Order: sequence, then structure tokens, then C-alpha cells
Amino acid sequence: MALTVHAIKGTQDVLPSQSGRWQYIERRLIETARLYGFRELRTPVFEHTELFNRSVGDTTDVVQKEMYTFDDNGGRSVSLRPEGTAGAVRAFLEHGLHNEALPAKICYVSGCYRYEKPQAGRLREFHQFGVECFGAPSPAADAEVIALAASAFDALGVRNLRLELNSIGCPACRPKYSQALKDYFTAHEAELCDTCRERLTRNPMRILDCKSPVCAAVAAKAPLVTDYLCEDCRAHQRGVEAHLNARGVAFINNPRIVRGLDYYTRTVFEFISSDLGAQATVCGGGRYDGLVEQMGGPSVPALGFGMGLERLLMVMEAQGCPFPEDKPCQVYLAPMGDAASLEATRLCGMLRDEGFSAETDLAGRGLKAQMKYANKLGARYTVVLGEQELADGKARLKNMGTGEEREVILPDGLLSALYDSEIEGALNDLNATLESDWLRKEEK
Ligand code: ATP
Ligand code: MG
Repeated sequence: MALTVHAIKGTQDVLPSQSGRWQYIERRLIETARLYGFRELRTPVFEHTELFNRSVGDTTDVVQKEMYTFDDNGGRSVSLRPEGTAGAVRAFLEHGLHNEALPAKICYVSGCYRYEKPQAGRLREFHQFGVECFGAPSPAADAEVIALAASAFDALGVRNLRLELNSIGCPACRPKYSQALKDYFTAHEAELCDTCRERLTRNPMRILDCKSPVCAAVAAKAPLVTDYLCEDCRAHQRGVEAHLNARGVAFINNPRIVRGLDYYTRTVFEFISSDLGAQATVCGGGRYDGLVEQMGGPSVPALGFGMGLERLLMVMEAQGCPFPEDKPCQVYLAPMGDAASLEATRLCGMLRDEGFSAETDLAGRGLKAQMKYANKLGARYTVVLGEQELADGKARLKNMGTGEEREVILPDGLLSALYDSEIEGALNDLNATLESDWLRKEEK
């Protein structure tokens, strides 16, 4: 029989052999965020469509072309989240977090959904690690959020990322820049794609982000936002740069980054890898000082970033970054006969209560087939349980790596042997971690 229903195009299964890598990445990211005082927020995968129209912006590609939007059975329009900030802002307001201590610092790891053309590093379901910091107007906050992303890359051993930084102004100076763009693009209207011609009246800054090569060529000569910034925005940008320099976070100014979502003000940034192909931006973010108010809340300046985890994993694999070894089955109990099978089940329960991963036969196999299975599992140790072992209360514990065997008394001797090997393993792990941390610091 052939499989007739396949996974949706642009989605990926994470198989058991790979999921350890994902768990490791997520753990390190959340742990890094915690060091900066960011705690996890979990929001639903779908929201009222209006939330994204109003926050992400209804002239953006994300809202116009990429959202998974449908009516539920009650006739309400809902959308799968295309990004994490909108839901975070909604939850922040809905739970009155703006009345609690500010800045409020949150992070999340969540699936995002965009109807895009699938290719390497571009999926329809992808995952983001994101952070948001609410109630922090100071340039120190921009540097803090950027430094958090840099620390996260560092913690995972990722190297050679280029941090590009820009300011895209505020409601005081943006209109003048928009007008300058409108004038420029109107003069080149005939060359633009249909979508960009529409953008010309509604949101000319979006043209700068168009992926069509023709529009990109026109945009390359467009006026630069940095020539139109007001004094406050300039001072803010200088402040961010000073704080980044003080922390030793290297960056380059790129007056051409604008970002694909409407809500950004002032600082925008991207971390770009030269180890990826066309989809080279691993992390993007910026400040969105007007968004909370625009969503019906008080004026709360805020900022954040989104990091694409599929792209992050691609960079890590391309760079040969270290991943922790998957923990295999610690001990496999191979019973022979019904009485031994009951004893093996009992022993497994006891070992698991002590925190050891233990497995036994669930397929009614003979000894040879069981040992083959234990081998495939990568079991560290095996114990054969037959009538003799049950009668003596002793068995042979075999180290599958070295082939070494020794007699243990059941169950205490077995337990203490496993504890000994656990301690040895933990010491080795600790040494390896210390060594790689030390090497990383040396490299710096
Ligand atoms: P791009 O220019 O690559 O389309 P974007 O500007 O749309 O990116 P953001 O909305 O800022 O991206 O999302 C933040 C990060 O999420 C990106 O830098 C990228 O790492 C990741 N990302 C965005 N869209 C996708 C996707 N379709 N598939 C995989 N990762 C994605
Ligand atoms: Mg995009």
C-alpha cells in the first residue's frame, strides 16, 4: 500500500533522530534569554485576522499574500500567526501587563505560517525564537536586545554573522522621507511591478523591500532614509551605536534595510550569514514605539526580534557547530521466558523511578533478536535475564561499548553500577563543556 496523503508543501517533520538538536537549540535560546531577564510567553497559534492586519500592516506582503486566513465554523475570520509580535502585544495588553513592572521582557519559541514559495531556508511552517521588550525607550534597550541575539548565537557556537543596523525614523520624520520616495518612484513608475505600483500611493517604503530584481534595481538608487532622520532619531541611533560599541558588539550601518513589517520605527537590524544561500537573514528585528498604542493600549515604546530556527540550524550544521550527543537507552533488559519477562518489567519500572532509561522486550523476540535490537538502540548496557538469573538473584551486566561483563546482584548491584557509570558520564560531559567554553573564550 502506498502513502496517499503527504505532508503539506513547505512543512517539515522533525524526526526522532533530529529532535535532540531542536531541543538543545531551544533550551540554549530560552536559557540565554533568561540571563537577560526575559521570560517565556505562550500565545495561541491563531488569532483574529484583524490583529495582523492592524499590526503587521495591510500593505505588507505578509498580510496581502502570505497569511493563512480562513473563516471558522462560527463565521469569524481567523489567521495562523505569520510572526510573533502581534500576539505578544495583544497578550501584553489583554492581561494588563503594562500596569506591572516595566520594562516587561518576554520571549517565545513558536511556529509561524506564511504562504510563500518553499525553497532552502524558506518554509510555509517555520519556527521563530523571538523576544519583545515593552516600556524601554532608551537606546540602551536596543543594544540590550541586539546583544541578547548575539549572545544566543555565541552560546550555540555560531560564528561569522554580520550585524547590519539602520534607523528608519519616526512619525515626525518619516512623512518627509515617504514623500521623497514617492517622488522618486513616481518618476520610475513604468519600471515597477504591479504590486509596487499599488504600493506607490499606499506605502512607498514597501517598494524598498520588493524581491523582484527590476524593482530592486530601481530601489538601489532611491533616496536614503538616513538623510531624512530628525534630530531625535539621529541622537537615538548614536546612542544605540555607543551602547553596542561599549559592549563590543560589532555592527555595520546599512541605510538600505527597512524590514518587511509596517510597525517598525527607528532602529532596525538583521543578522546575516554568509554560510546560507539566498535566505541569509537568520534574525531580524527592531523598535516599534507606536504599535502598542496603535493596538488600543497606552503609549509604550517597545522593541524585539525574530530569529528563524530552521535557518539557524542550517548555519549551525554548515559551520559544524557542536551538538550534545543524543542520550541512548542506558540499559536493555533481555528476558528469556515468561517469568523473566515479568521480572524485567518490574526491574525496568524500578530503574526508571531512579531516572535511568531502561527498555525491555515488547515484541516477544528470542535472545538473539533482542540483542540485535539493543544494539540498534545503542543501549549502553544489557542484562540477560533467564531462569538461572532469577533463581540466583544475580545477572551479568554487559557494557556494549567495550564488551566487558561483570556480575551484579539484582537489583542493588545493578543500580549502583549504573550510578557509577552515570557519574563518570556526567564528569566527561562537564569536561567537554568546560573545554569548549574555554576554547570559545580563547578564540575571542
Ligand atoms: P525574508 O526577507 O527572508 O523573507 P522576513 O523579513 O520576512 O525575511 P521576518 O518577518 O523579519 O522575516 O522574520 C524573522 C526571521 O524569521 C527571518 O529573519 C528568518 O530567519 C525567519 N523567516 C521568515 N520567514 C521565513 C520562512 N518563510 N521560512 C523560514 N524562516 C523564515
Ligand atoms: Mg519574508
